[in-house]
Amino acid sequence: MIIAIDGPAASGKGTIAKRLAAHYGLRHLDTGLLYRAVAKTVLDAGEAPDDAAAATGAAQTLDPTRYDEAVLKGPGVGEAASLVSAIPAVRAALVDFQRSFAAAAPGAVLDGRDIGTVICPDAEAKIFVTATPEVRAERRANEYRNAGKDIPLAEVLADIRQRDERDSNRSAAPLRQADDAVLLDTTHLNVEQAVAAAIEIVEAKRS
Ligand code: C5P
Repeated sequence: MIIAIDGPAASGKGTIAKRLAAHYGLRHLDTGLLYRAVAKTVLDAGEAPDDAAAATGAAQTLDPTRYDEAVLKGPGVGEAASLVSAIPAVRAALVDFQRSFAAAAPGAVLDGRDIGTVICPDAEAKIFVTATPEVRAERRANEYRNAGKDIPLAEVLADIRQRDERDSNRSAAPLRQADDAVLLDTTHLNVEQAVAAAIEIVEAKRS
């Protein structure tokens, strides 16, 4: 089984995807980490994240295991990831890796922005996870705080709004709900409630 989870930053899609993978015995791929790794490679080389040649080169030679997840999830990298991910050749370079991951037995849960629309259009279950920008900013600020980084909520909210805007309006695989995806709004749900709702959606698709 392949489960596609899409949604904006800090909507809860990563947590839901991980928990669904554990529940169904599937592998999990956080595809945002791929774009973050491309961005980090470009930044470390002293290049600009919107430099198409530098970003494409980084994507084509990407070693997804090269960076620590904590480094990739840090502030600053998400914004740069949003810039590199708007470059069509960067997206094209990462398609095969994602599709091969999804296709290998026993199946997988992938989360990102274009999983249900572009990467796995035939996924058995598709969920589009969302929440208000304010709630997402609070969650992200808490994550940073737990990692020892105190970033003002207003700054985190501004970053989230800017990324939403860029990810939704780019021409290459914009963030959007697939026609056959089920919307899951986690604004008023805790983790357990959100995971239970996601399992219910998958079960309804399977029956
Ligand atoms: O999900 P996460 O916040 O880690 O993703 C970082 C950035 O990578 C997003 O803002 C988005 O621009 C990009 N991305 C994407 N397609 C995906 C996953 C992430 O464009 N499938």
